Amino acid sequence: MSELRRDPFTLAWVVIAPERADRPQRTMPALSAAPAVTGDDPDCPFCPGRELDTPDEVWRLPDEPAGAWAVRVVPNRYPVLTRGDQPAHHRTNGLRTSADGIGSHEVVIESPRHRWDLADGDDSAVANVLRAYRARSLALRGRRPGLVLPFRNHGAAAGTSLSHPHSQIVATPIVPLRHRHLFHVARGYYDDHGRCLYVDVTAAELADGQRVVACNDSVIALVPYAAGAPYETWILPRHHQASFADAHDDILDDTAAVLRRLLAALRGLLGDIPYNYALISAPNGEEGTTYFAWHLRLVPRLASAAGFELGTGMAVNTVPPEHAAAQLRRALTAHP
Ligand SMILES: [Zn+2]
Repeated sequence: MSELRRDPFTLAWVVIAPERADRPQRTMPALSAAPAVTGDDPDCPFCPGRELDTPDEVWRLPDEPAGAWAVRVVPNRYPVLTRGDQPAHHRTNGLRTSADGIGSHEVVIESPRHRWDLADGDDSAVANVLRAYRARSLALRGRRPGLVLPFRNHGAAAGTSLSHPHSQIVATPIVPLRHRHLFHVARGYYDDHGRCLYVDVTAAELADGQRVVACNDSVIALVPYAAGAPYETWILPRHHQASFADAHDDILDDTAAVLRRLLAALRGLLGDIPYNYALISAPNGEEGTTYFAWHLRLVPRLASAAGFELGTGMAVNTVPPEHAAAQLRRALTAHP
């Protein structure tokens, strides 16, 4: 079983997960600026015909037990957290605090096609993937306190181990320190101003325009004013909503349209670079809050942290956010 340990110096939780070391590595070979061509893999466990090689499905689209599928969700065979619904017991022994590493770790198989990517799809294919995030977030968030986090790793340098297009969804039994901090800051802003920080930032960025990459009726894509990485981009709802699990179809479809265009623009601008994104919502049980908004945070992995970052915790971003946004806007026009 995985174990959660809390760092006594920072109070951040760490997952000790030895089972993760056993996972197979079948990554795409090339991850430079050149377009990566993923080779077919006859042993790929996510390709059609190999459904029995994965743990039992928890969700599929269309919702029919047999026949062709567009998206499948299955438990991860090499989970970060051990699957279970029981409470995660905490233990304290002097300065050492730990908890059972119980939660959920699922894989969203995004397409039956091995050689495919979100940036290649039409908007409806991307929306189908977001439907999986929404459905599983809704199912998992009611089971315990903590957090449900859909995320995607693209490219070996971003941590993916299988080249078949997929995302992951982890449900943690605790609220990670970063999220606790985000929530604390947002609540403080609400106390001071009586408004949602995320809605105010979104409105201010729309009015300013310099860092806006794209927007439609429901969502905005922007490079944050203090982005910590080159071309880091967030997608946020334009109207208040704390959890993506509560997004209606029109918001979900508008999010898919902007995400697909953003990924295509990134690839047009920088090539098939490694990136991670995470879809951050309010912690479980806090969905009704008026001071936090869900957001998708996409971070290209173009540079690795070095000693300065290690020693200070401060990021160094070599591309000013305004320049990054202008380049992404131009790329969006060239790669609609
Ligand atoms: Zn495959």
